[in-house]
Amino acid sequence: MATELIDRFGRVHTDLRISVTDRCNFRCEYCMPEEGMEWLDRSAVLTFEEIERVARVLVERCGVESIRLTGGEPTVRARLPLLVQKLAALGVDLSMTTNAATLVTLAEPLRTAGLKRINISLDSLDRERFHQLTKRDQLDAVLDGIDAAVAAGFDPVKVNAVLMRGINDDEIVPFLQMGRDRGVIVRFIEFMPLDAQGDWSSDRVVGYDEILERAGEVFDFEPIARGTSPAERFAYTDGAGEFGVIASVTEPFCGSCDRIRLTAEGQIRNCLFALDHVDLRAILRGGGTDDDVVAAVAGEVDRKWAGHGIGQVHFLRPSKSMSQLGG
Ligand code: SAM
Ligand code: SF4
Repeated sequence: MATELIDRFGRVHTDLRISVTDRCNFRCEYCMPEEGMEWLDRSAVLTFEEIERVARVLVERCGVESIRLTGGEPTVRARLPLLVQKLAALGVDLSMTTNAATLVTLAEPLRTAGLKRINISLDSLDRERFHQLTKRDQLDAVLDGIDAAVAAGFDPVKVNAVLMRGINDDEIVPFLQMGRDRGVIVRFIEFMPLDAQGDWSSDRVVGYDEILERAGEVFDFEPIARGTSPAERFAYTDGAGEFGVIASVTEPFCGSCDRIRLTAEGQIRNCLFALDHVDLRAILRGGGTDDDVVAAVAGEVDRKWAGHGIGQVHFLRPSKSMSQLGG
């Protein structure tokens, strides 16, 4: 019997984000602390078989249509193409978010295994600044990774940049130019209060209006239909592709949110900013049936809030950082 994952506000949930590891080869300071990160024990992390089971149940019984692999950094999980192969067999729209540092070797095997779309995170095109932001001197590897993703046939390749005032807000035009030159869709994401340091403040957010104003000083573009994407989309009038803005803070899209998250240790979270979760791993490892899995996930979706409420007095940061939640 089908169980739609529908919350009390009527939002139907069809998009599953799966964090396959909490580990990462980078240390972006807005995402995880540079030192002192306590990694999950290997035994605490869901196995490929457990991930596949949850995905299959949610696809076959609950109408999940798209799955995005994330992390930590998903590509640091050994044998990732094997998991991709298992999930691709479910016939969903399968995508991945990655820092691209290892895509030169992994783009092709992931594509062959059945990965359909890829989103790459990159916050600076300046080598020194990139090093400072990620604590890794790997800008060239990432740029080569972007080219490898295009060459492997991922279409479109999206490059997401989180803009932070005083850090990289002078790179809006260079990023757009890079997207036009490399044939990828650049999307700017507003900085969210999920930084490990806890030093987010609203004046560090570079908002939607400002991004468009800066872009408009150099390029001509017009809005195009947004569809189900959280990004406002714009097409260059000279035909050189498109770019987008994901205004999660200044124009939240919570009203149409259709996402649920499975963390590396098997928690189901109904929002990036959720303060609570259901422990699916305990159900999986305690002999729970598929019905138990469905009931647990449906219950968590039912409890979902109307929205994150960033900037409102009752807003509380979750205790986990973005690297543990998957973005
Ligand atoms: N390691 C992969 C990557 O970097 O693409 C996947 C996981 S990462 C947590 C997912 C996304 O979250 C990245 O695009 C990253 O830029 C974004 N992110 C991390 N911290 C953020 C924050 N405080 N505000 C907005 N986006 C953030
Ligand atoms: Fe790693 Fe991605 Fe977080 Fe950067 S944003 S530290 S690449 S998980």
